[in-house]
Amino acid sequence: MKFFKREQTKKIRVGNIFIGGGAPISIQSMTNTDTKNWKNTVNQIKQLEEAGCEIVRVSLPTIEAAQNISKIKKNIRIPLVADVHFDHLIALCAIEQGVDKLRINPGNIGSKSKIYTVAKAAKKAHIPIRIGVNLGSLKSAHNFSDSTSRARSLVNSATEHIEILEKLDFYDIVVSLKASNIETTVEAYKLFAKKRSYPLHLGITEAGSVFNGNIKSAVGLGIMLYNGIGDTIRVSLTADPVEEVRAAYSILQSLNLKSSGLEIISCPTCSRTEVDLIKIVSEFEKKVYSIKDLKKISPPIKVALMGCVVNGPGEAKDADFGIAGGKNCGLLFENGKIVAKIHPDKWVSVLIDTVKKFIKLRNSAKNSA
Ligand code: SF4
Repeated sequence: MKFFKREQTKKIRVGNIFIGGGAPISIQSMTNTDTKNWKNTVNQIKQLEEAGCEIVRVSLPTIEAAQNISKIKKNIRIPLVADVHFDHLIALCAIEQGVDKLRINPGNIGSKSKIYTVAKAAKKAHIPIRIGVNLGSLKSAHNFSDSTSRARSLVNSATEHIEILEKLDFYDIVVSLKASNIETTVEAYKLFAKKRSYPLHLGITEAGSVFNGNIKSAVGLGIMLYNGIGDTIRVSLTADPVEEVRAAYSILQSLNLKSSGLEIISCPTCSRTEVDLIKIVSEFEKKVYSIKDLKKISPPIKVALMGCVVNGPGEAKDADFGIAGGKNCGLLFENGKIVAKIHPDKWVSVLIDTVKKFIKLRNSAKNSA
């Protein structure tokens, strides 16, 4: 997208992914299984990988949970982040087990010697630390009711944590400054981006259910991304974390910040619509996202599903392929040309087959390049 310039940030490596320094904006999520049950955790991470998650975080409330890190890592493909609070021994155990990144707030884990031990171990293992400040756990911010003061409190708290690490000569830092309020969050990230160049993990925390949380996250993250702020994102939902990944993809795709996957264009329907487009699109969405490796297809496949021939053919022609509806039929377009006339009962199966065909074409073009 040409309308913003991304802030220049420091480049940090997390496993086989880079955050910041112009690297593609990565999608993160977090498991909600009990990390002590490593098999369930691995199963959920596999679902997240399939949905397009690029970095995954697990919380480690106990040493027993931390002791599962290496087993989990052996069974997944994406970098693994350990979320640790208060207990430096858990952080040390996670590092020893081969975790790729820590989310920890140095000010929360006690004495300077404990922080020093963790920073030294992380540095030796070449793993970064995310300082994740959340308004909910930031007592100083609750003295204020206005968003600017609250944002300043978030930034000041992050800066204090950062300075602890910097004094220990540790600079592989990612920062997040989350609140459940969009104004406070946006102000905090903007303020921080003016002051420091550490890469930013964006999120609107505790955003809510799938419906409300997606809207809130899209608005909040959209404002920041549009302004060039953000190196990695997490959508926080009270839902299956797969939904978080799907939402994050859509947010990035709608800003042209993700050049892979599938983009669906569909009309809102009106009195001209002569097919049950709402049902067709919903069935298509249910089936299409289970196609293996769909999220990795680059450039993205653009599909248009239009109710009639007014805007239909135009949108369908702009897409890689699509269907424009008519009375009991639809015109299938591929690369701008009409290739078939299809009965509405067959739309979904034809569209799924066509997506598979385009994936094959994209893959063979990539292999022969
Ligand atoms: S594309 Fe046709 S059916 Fe769909 S909203 Fe527009 S005019 Fe109505």
